[in-house]
Amino acid sequence: MAKENLKFHQLALVPTHDSLPEFNPHELPEGLDEGLEICSLCHGTGMEIVRGKGARQCECRRMKSYDKLLKAARIPRRYANCEFEGYQKKNLSQGRAFQLSFDLANHYPKVERGLLFMGSVGVGKTHLATSILRLLIEKGATCLFYEFGSLLKEIQSSYSTISQTSEFRVLEPIFDAEVLVLDELGASKPTDWVRDTMMHIINTRYNDKKLTIFTTNYLDARRRDGEETLEDRIGTRLRSRLYEMCQTLIIDGEDYRKNFDKSAKTKS
Ligand code: ADP
Repeated sequence: MAKENLKFHQLALVPTHDSLPEFNPHELPEGLDEGLEICSLCHGTGMEIVRGKGARQCECRRMKSYDKLLKAARIPRRYANCEFEGYQKKNLSQGRAFQLSFDLANHYPKVERGLLFMGSVGVGKTHLATSILRLLIEKGATCLFYEFGSLLKEIQSSYSTISQTSEFRVLEPIFDAEVLVLDELGASKPTDWVRDTMMHIINTRYNDKKLTIFTTNYLDARRRDGEETLEDRIGTRLRSRLYEMCQTLIIDGEDYRKNFDKSAKTKS
């Protein structure tokens, strides 16, 4: 047959019966947890047979790896259901933040810079950051969420343990994650140790060209005397690094949480 007449199907070839492992209903196939129901599509083999066509990875395996990535991302339960669909664009800045977040998630991995969400509390910075993570997890990216203060505390408490490698053990997933959200940048008291540690983390990801998304309640501009800026909180060097690593998005608006109060009042 002429080469151009050959048709290759995208699906993998169906294995012959001889090459399949003997099915033992009392033995769970590798990778399946005890207590899980056996998938009715692939019977635990991980491959779904499509009649007349061949075999492909079963949906149950795809779901399993999604669940694994979602769990590993450590998105707080409060934000577990935050998705783009639920985000209300109440003003221009929220519309722009939404669009750029959505674009980043859609274009990933062809994305050079992360995002730095700035704005007062409750304008939806973390909501958008976690919405991005969920879409990226669907794309199979390893993601991680950390509130910066908790991360610093974890690193600090790792010092009190005997092992010298403990600090590295805390930081390894931070360095390894393809996409990292660091929530509440600048919230911790800016001691020398805090600044050095932040610089170490952010610089390592910068050097490895890894995507990082930040949220902060601090702005670049001082709106009134005595108000601290982001640079005051994290230092000039680090703020300068962030200009390169991320696009800055300022979100204005009212604290969305006030709506919870309003709806509670109308119900009572
Ligand atoms: P921030 O990080 O800016 O302090 P959050 O993202 O934590 O604010 O938002 C606080 C709560 O309000 C969350 O439950 C979030 O889902 C919700 N929220 C905030 N802004 C919006 C918005 N524009 N649309 C829908 N929900 C929002």
